Amino acid sequence: MIKGIGASAGIAIGRSFVLPNWEWELPEQKIDVADFAREFERVYEGIRTSKSEIEQIKDELRDVVGSEETHIFDAHIAILDDPVFMNEIQGIIQRQYKAAEVAVKEAIDHFVTMFDLLDDEYMKERALDIKDVGNRLLKHLLGAPEITLPSDTQPFILIAKELSPSQLAHINPQHVLGIVTLAGSTTSHSAIMARALGVPLVVGVETKLEEPIQTGQTIIIDGSDGTVFIEPVQQIIDAYTELHNAQSEAKKRLHGIAGHRPVTPDGKRLELAANISSFKELEIALSSGAHGVGLFRTEFLYMDRNRFPREEEQFEVYRSVAEKLGGEPLVIRTLDVGGDKQLDYFELPEEDNPFLGYRAIRISLDRQDLFKTQLRAILRASHYGQVKLMYPLISSVDEVRAANAVLDEAKRELEEAGHPYDKGIKIGIMIEVPAAVMIADLLAEEVDFFSIGTNDLVQFTLAVDRMNEEISHLYEPYHPALIRMLRMTVEAAKRAGISVGVCGELAGDLRALPIWLSLDVDEISMSSHSILQVKERLLCTSQDESREVFQQLQACRTSTEVIEQLNAFMQRIDKKTANG
Ligand code: PEP
Ligand code: MG
Repeated sequence: MIKGIGASAGIAIGRSFVLPNWEWELPEQKIDVADFAREFERVYEGIRTSKSEIEQIKDELRDVVGSEETHIFDAHIAILDDPVFMNEIQGIIQRQYKAAEVAVKEAIDHFVTMFDLLDDEYMKERALDIKDVGNRLLKHLLGAPEITLPSDTQPFILIAKELSPSQLAHINPQHVLGIVTLAGSTTSHSAIMARALGVPLVVGVETKLEEPIQTGQTIIIDGSDGTVFIEPVQQIIDAYTELHNAQSEAKKRLHGIAGHRPVTPDGKRLELAANISSFKELEIALSSGAHGVGLFRTEFLYMDRNRFPREEEQFEVYRSVAEKLGGEPLVIRTLDVGGDKQLDYFELPEEDNPFLGYRAIRISLDRQDLFKTQLRAILRASHYGQVKLMYPLISSVDEVRAANAVLDEAKRELEEAGHPYDKGIKIGIMIEVPAAVMIADLLAEEVDFFSIGTNDLVQFTLAVDRMNEEISHLYEPYHPALIRMLRMTVEAAKRAGISVGVCGELAGDLRALPIWLSLDVDEISMSSHSILQVKERLLCTSQDESREVFQQLQACRTSTEVIEQLNAFMQRIDKKTANG
């Protein structure tokens, strides 16, 4: 057994198919000056063919994984259009009298080496893009056949040195059970696409392998923890087959309740919404019976690219999501970068305390140009569904008013330009800073809804960095201080008559369910994978009993006591359910 890095969850068991590397035989003879024009034309022709091929892949892929993933191929087209790339190729032809394919190969090697040397993950990914698109161009210049995957065989586990987005685009999830790459990272384009396609993926096994994997070997991979077995013994195969079947069964069983109304036995309805960060996650959310999207983290749209997305690009994504939801609510949170979320092209200042620094709404209010672009895109999308707008990291009334002033400007501009938008669009804020809890009554007068972001609220209330492993034991979502904070926030919202939801990780924690029921929150929003499990419990947990347990929680003095009470409550419910 070897351990790589789990990059896309799921178990796959099958025979391996090892993808050969692209290797080329290049012409050795020099060309004449008289051949320059012909060689240039060959390069241009190769670029034209490559571009139309990429456009075709984009179209095919859009239907499978949504339009965001296809941006990867825009990057490939941009490389082919880049005058620096073309100049390098022409220079090699003219100065070294080399044929078009040799010049292209050398230009690729030159840029790949240059980018690879940089100590920057983003640039290394760009090196992969250049290699990928360069190989496509070479393939056309040489008239070489594409290395294709076996299509008429049994489904297989694909083994590759590294897998480019172009190669992955050709993959049919029906045939490819799972993928292992020798190199790669969890944040690579390919990993992102594998997750979107639902194909288990383990990356980074190169140094762990004692000898190369051969085509036809039996392989087991577990994409959740990076485990790979090569030619495992029958017992391991049986154990993993059982695990795989159990996972499929559990999924199927839970899917049976996807259409059930989210109502407790005593009639309390608690909407279960999904947190998403891209269009592709929407499919999973919808198949889990999510009541719309309670948190669309728009950061993803801004990441994994080399410039800010334009209004039109953002509008297209927001509109697609709104339309796909068919009238179900879609809460779009404005850009929440800074802290742990960085943009490669946006230089944020070096800070001693980035989580307390230049981030989220603070950046939006400072860079109103960027903010207004996003607001315009969201407003325009509101015409196509039930879109709501949400500001992150609010800590004062001033911030809400300043954000709304930019929103009013954006609305005015759209009206002048004749763009339709929902005039009654609801505006909400994340409650994730203790100051916001303390003035929740004041904030409630300014907005239409609250969504409690427990991830940050825990971190700021307890002064415990949510990313710091060293102190992770102090990150206690069930700390009595949090119980009080939650109560204060919900009560303030109720008094003001606005709706209140929860969208941090705690929303998907089964133990927390009686807290939401007892406080009578309107919605909880979580990762799609948790929705059905939470619904299963909701269907057998009454609001009345939840209120009783919440009384006890308020008397608890430590997190341990709170957790004990909640666990004991879960056991009581389980027992009752088991006894019919
Ligand atoms: C939160 O802080 O709880 C939240 C939902 O936002 P994020 O995790 O994106 O910071
Ligand atoms: Mg947050």
